[in-house]
Amino acid sequence: MDFQADPGLEVFRQEVRQFLRDKVPAELKGLARCTRSPRDQILKWQKLLNAHGWGAPYWPTEHGGTGWSVAQMLVFDEECTVAGTPTQDGFVQKMLGPVLNAFATPEQKAEHLPAALEGERLWCQGFSEPGSGSDLASLRTRAVRDGDHYVVNGQKIWTSYAHHADWIFLLVRTDASGKKQAGISFLLVDMRTPGITVRPIRSIDDAHHLNETFFDNVRVPVKNLIGEEGAGWSVTKFLLNNEHATTADLPDIRRYMRELMRIATTLPVGAGRLIDCPEFALKLARLDAEHEAIGMLVQRVAELDIRHDPASHVLGSILKLRATELQQRITEAQVEALGDYGAVAYAHPHDPAPAQPYPLQDLARGITNDMFLRRASTIYGGTSEVQRGIIAKLLFRL
Ligand SMILES: Cc1cc2nc3c(=O)[nH]c(=O)nc-3n(C[C@H](O)[C@H](O)[C@H](O)COP(=O)(O)OP(=O)(O)OC[C@H]3O[C@@H](n4cnc5c(N)ncnc54)[C@H](O)[C@@H]3O)c2cc1C
Repeated sequence: MDFQADPGLEVFRQEVRQFLRDKVPAELKGLARCTRSPRDQILKWQKLLNAHGWGAPYWPTEHGGTGWSVAQMLVFDEECTVAGTPTQDGFVQKMLGPVLNAFATPEQKAEHLPAALEGERLWCQGFSEPGSGSDLASLRTRAVRDGDHYVVNGQKIWTSYAHHADWIFLLVRTDASGKKQAGISFLLVDMRTPGITVRPIRSIDDAHHLNETFFDNVRVPVKNLIGEEGAGWSVTKFLLNNEHATTADLPDIRRYMRELMRIATTLPVGAGRLIDCPEFALKLARLDAEHEAIGMLVQRVAELDIRHDPASHVLGSILKLRATELQQRITEAQVEALGDYGAVAYAHPHDPAPAQPYPLQDLARGITNDMFLRRASTIYGGTSEVQRGIIAKLLFRL
């Protein structure tokens, strides 16, 4: 792994900046801080990127992607975060897209890939169930074959953004007789199919990201099965292994650090600023060093992922663990730095600004929300305890 500055990368950075400056309309820039944009913004942004040939920044060229190097992908993410553009649909970009490219039939690809890339369709992920999260293979949502359809019954939970999604990729049990991993199948389901009910779960940051999703005699065409019936576990392992480098949310970590630095250099404390307090300056320096280390680890893991190197499994788990804990520590430091206003400034960035502006509104808005939201980082994508188990098993061959 070469960490030396690459002059070609600077040229690429300028190209991305020029695109953001000249081709992106004002309505898609300078947007409120968030980990996932509202539906209409994601779709508009996707259309614009696709028209520019950048619809799939993380995919190889043979699958209609940009073919960018890992370093280029990171520069692209970084510049978009600085410009405040909307997010893309991570479910299709980082999870389902690579699965379709690897496992789908030509007809399935033709049906689903253009619609996602052209900004026509959003997806959500229907894996977890009450009682089947870490132990995903124990899932019980059933799909029973009836002619050229499956009839699906059961419940999913924590289905992020199901209320914004047009389609869901779903794990179902098609056979309960053998080993639990063997009877799982991977289906694509149109969210408008009769029998699907989405019920909101309000989370601790006072926003609606999460849902319960119920399936009551939902008829799904057999042509929407990805891979063989009963082979869904291999597809799932492929999907989860692809996710390693992205679970770090590096652009968000970098944004949190920039915001923390801004608070520290702006906020008056006594006769000086917060950054003049030696204890706080030390804390900031430590967080900054860790954030740089995570940046390097993201690059290493992404390179290993691309080469399907088995070392990516253990390093990916180490990255997930360290990066999500860092997200929590930086956002906690932001709230701590705001002092009393960390609590007062509680308003979701997508809500209208309060009529009575409070002190520090510019600095503080949305920060407490993110601190609460990030409590979940060490749960989704595999909990920290589960990551520690994987690391121990892989390193020590338990
Ligand atoms: C904000 C958020 C968004 C999510 N989005 C989605 C989504 O879009 N789609 C989706 O399908 N799912 C989603 N999830 C679900 C997520 O994948 C699960 O919450 C996660 O896998 C943990 O499962 P669980 O909640 O059932 O907890 P459990 O698996 O029941 O775990 C409970 C506790 O036991 C510990 N534990 C469990 N097994 C072990 C073990 N083997 N060793 C040591 N400790 C263990 C865990 O670490 C945890 O502390 C989301 C979750 C959150 C919080």
